[in-house]
Amino acid sequence: MQEGTDISADSLPALRCTRCKVAQPQDHFTRDKSRASGMFPWCRACSRADKAARYRADPAKHNAGSAEWAKANPDRRRQIWRANATRHRERYNKTKAAWAAANPDKVRDTKLRQRLSGRLERHARMAERRAQHRHERRERAVKCCNRCGLEKGVGEFTVHRPEDAPDRLHPWCKACLNTYRRGHHTELRDSYVRANLAANTGLSASAFPGTLVDAQRAKISLHREITNRRRP
Ligand SMILES: [Zn+2]
Ligand SMILES: [Zn+2]
Repeated sequence: MQEGTDISADSLPALRCTRCKVAQPQDHFTRDKSRASGMFPWCRACSRADKAARYRADPAKHNAGSAEWAKANPDRRRQIWRANATRHRERYNKTKAAWAAANPDKVRDTKLRQRLSGRLERHARMAERRAQHRHERRERAVKCCNRCGLEKGVGEFTVHRPEDAPDRLHPWCKACLNTYRRGHHTELRDSYVRANLAANTGLSASAFPGTLVDAQRAKISLHREITNRRRP
């Protein structure tokens, strides 16, 4: 280790800015190889202020000048961009770290919120997967109809949840159920006529005496006859 050869900015003699006349450390100045001193005579703050003043005086001219310079010095421009990006990122990270150190409560809240939202998303995904599995199971499953005796996919049965249907499906397939219901309607069975009376009166289907059910059956039958005759 050689001592005394450390040339940090602090150990170099200060320079006096020719614009603001303030003596400052050398890292407050930009390098300029075209000058004997190797440094630009204005401090960075003065250079920035001068540039801003020239921009304010004539923005169009300033921009045109900048564009011309950028065209003439593409490599240098790229270098400056990169350096600025790095510097900004470093400054951003530093500011962020400082804020986090000063606001531990908010940081904790944010982390909790993020964790919670992540958990909600996971739960939603899991529920979706479970629904998919249920769907696939239903697609594969078959059931034997109690009426026609055929084995059909469970999609061919209506959902039904009485105590005696542990699979929550009607014991008859949809086709059988439809045939049965159509028969009810066509043959004007008691249950159909009672349901018709209940719908018309708002009373319970079991509230009507047999004579009234017979009368209603005759009425519906007559009504159908008239309607059918009217049809072309
Ligand atoms: Zn200055
Ligand atoms: Zn069936």
